[in-house]
Order: sequence, then structure tokens, then C-alpha cells
Amino acid sequence: MRLSGDLLLTLQEVDERLSAKQQELDAYNAELEAQAEIPVLMQRAEEERESAIERRANLARLEVDADALRERVEELEERVYGGTITNLRELTAVEEEQTNARRELMQAEESLGPARLSAEDAERATEELTTTLAEREKSWAASAPKTRRHMNTAKKEVAVLEEERAEASKNVPGEELALYDQLLFRRHGVAIARVERGVCQACHITLPLKEASRLRRSDSLVTCGNCGRILIPS
Ligand SMILES: [Zn+2]
Repeated sequence: MRLSGDLLLTLQEVDERLSAKQQELDAYNAELEAQAEIPVLMQRAEEERESAIERRANLARLEVDADALRERVEELEERVYGGTITNLRELTAVEEEQTNARRELMQAEESLGPARLSAEDAERATEELTTTLAEREKSWAASAPKTRRHMNTAKKEVAVLEEERAEASKNVPGEELALYDQLLFRRHGVAIARVERGVCQACHITLPLKEASRLRRSDSLVTCGNCGRILIPS
């Protein structure tokens, strides 16, 4: 086997380990980032709590208004039926006032139901968010130290593998390394393919005879005509 083929195989092997370790690190990062949701949840719970308080206060205000209107209606009723008004014009005016007050009271009473529901909705949402938040915080407290520990270990391992990679790529000719890196990216981490009985082991296409014999003889790189990977004879 050609020298650079050996070097590239070693490099590929290091890159596979590096990529696996990097994925592990990404997973720990994602786990830690998912915990960024806790402050978001906290914020939402707080907003919901404030909204519930506001809606409760609004309901209380509406209830006070309705009570006042109810009293006013009763008062006007007493005046209409109490027999103290002798003047027809005054009676008509009071009756009209009473009609208006009744209408206002009806409207006020109609708004009580929705206001109560709205306050209860916000209170329920607050409660649910608070429960979710408590659960998240509990599970986070339990898992965070372990995740951080694993992440630090993975970081160190990645650093070691990166050194190993630098070492492994040091003696690969520049052009070959450029091709290798390009393929590594384009072919999702596998830039090299072995050839067995004339078949590319990455894409399973049989090489043309001419290519196969060039691969055996050649001291320059041969790439697969189908998948483009750097071919290594086995
Ligand atoms: Zn191929």
C-alpha cells in the first residue's frame, strides 16, 4: 500500500473517533442548553401570576360596581313605588333613571362571568407553570453536575483527538489533505473507501477494470468514479 494511503487511513480512523466524541459533546451541550428553558419558564410563570392578580382585581372591581348599581336600582325602585313623588314629570324622570340603572346593572352582571373565567384561567395556568418549573428544577438539580462532569471529560477528549488529528495529518501531502478534508465534509465523515475484489466498499459500485488496475499500480490517489471517495486497495 502507498505511504499516503496508510497516512490517510490513520487520519480517517482518528476523524471517526473525533466525530463520535464531538457528537457526544454536542449532546451534552444540547442537554445544558435545554436547561436554559428554566429561566424562560420562570419568566412565563411570573407573567402569568401577575396577569392572574390583575384579572382577580378587575373582577373585584366589577363586583363592587355591580353591587353599587344593584343598590341604586333598589333605591330608585323605592322612590318610584314609595309614593313620595307626587309630581308626574319627576316620576317619569326617576323611572327613566331606574330603567337606565337596570340596563347598566344587567351589563355589569353579564361581564362578571367572563371576568371570573379569565381570572381562573390565569390562576390555573400559573399553577401549571409553577408545577412544571418545580419538576424541571428538581430534575435539573439532579442531573446537572453529572452532565457538566461528562461534558468536561468529553471536551478534554476532543482536545486530545484534535492533537492526534494534527499529528496524523502532518505528513499527508497538502493536495491530498485538501481533497480528503473536502470529501470528509461532503461524504459525512467518510472520505476513504477500501476496494475489495474491485468493488468500492463505500458505495458498492464495481470499478471499471482500468481504474482497478490503476489503483494497484498508481502512486497517486485514485478516487471512486461514483462516490468520489479516495480509494485504498485492500
Ligand atoms: Zn465509491
